[in-house]
Amino acid sequence: MPREKRAARLRRMHEEYALLCAEFPDPVCALHFDTPFQLLVATILSAQTTDRRVNSVTPELFRRWPEPGDLADARPEDVEDVIHPLGFFHSKTRNLLAMATKLVADFDGVVPQDMDSLTSLPGVGRKTANVVLGNAFGISGFPVDTHVIRVTRRLRWRTIRRGSAPDPVGIEREITSCFPPGEWTNLSHRLIFLGRRYCHARNPDCVSCPLRESCPSSTIAHPNAAKRNDR
Ligand code: SF4
Repeated sequence: MPREKRAARLRRMHEEYALLCAEFPDPVCALHFDTPFQLLVATILSAQTTDRRVNSVTPELFRRWPEPGDLADARPEDVEDVIHPLGFFHSKTRNLLAMATKLVADFDGVVPQDMDSLTSLPGVGRKTANVVLGNAFGISGFPVDTHVIRVTRRLRWRTIRRGSAPDPVGIEREITSCFPPGEWTNLSHRLIFLGRRYCHARNPDCVSCPLRESCPSSTIAHPNAAKRNDR
């Protein structure tokens, strides 16, 4: 396959994003929350599990420990009981309590609105911070999760370095350089929805995918795609 020029790739990215906007017109965060603190907690809990599972435990968690100070003072074993169905409940509890303690000690119990402060909290990486910035505060953020990594690779929206591990910070930088900041949060949502609904890790449903005509990894647009895609 001839190498795609940068301008052509950029044009294709925007055409494909227009299709994603039509397919997912109202992207919203799948985690249930009412406050930035609740979203921060829910996002920390969402590691290695599904948003649906997280949503099944957070009502009880937020009922018993509604504020950072409540959670900072909670008994670890009580929190573990509530979040047990999510797996990794020991480490998640440890992170939640440490995060709430630092939030109270250093930020007066108020969730900060900048990347450096958010990532200073235990258990909060760049992805979690971007989720909170974009969805709780309306500040441009582009969370890079496993779906975003996979989908942007198959779509060839970014540089692929064979043999090297995906670099989420590099992916964030490369993709966000191609779209206006006001679009970053919804862009991430839509790529995640694409990954969940069509571009599955094992068996992508290219037949139904709205990007099947232009995606370089599509088995529909290119009958010999299997030879050159890198699933
Ligand atoms: S066409 Fe196939 S490989 Fe490409 S984004 Fe859609 S499901 Fe994924």
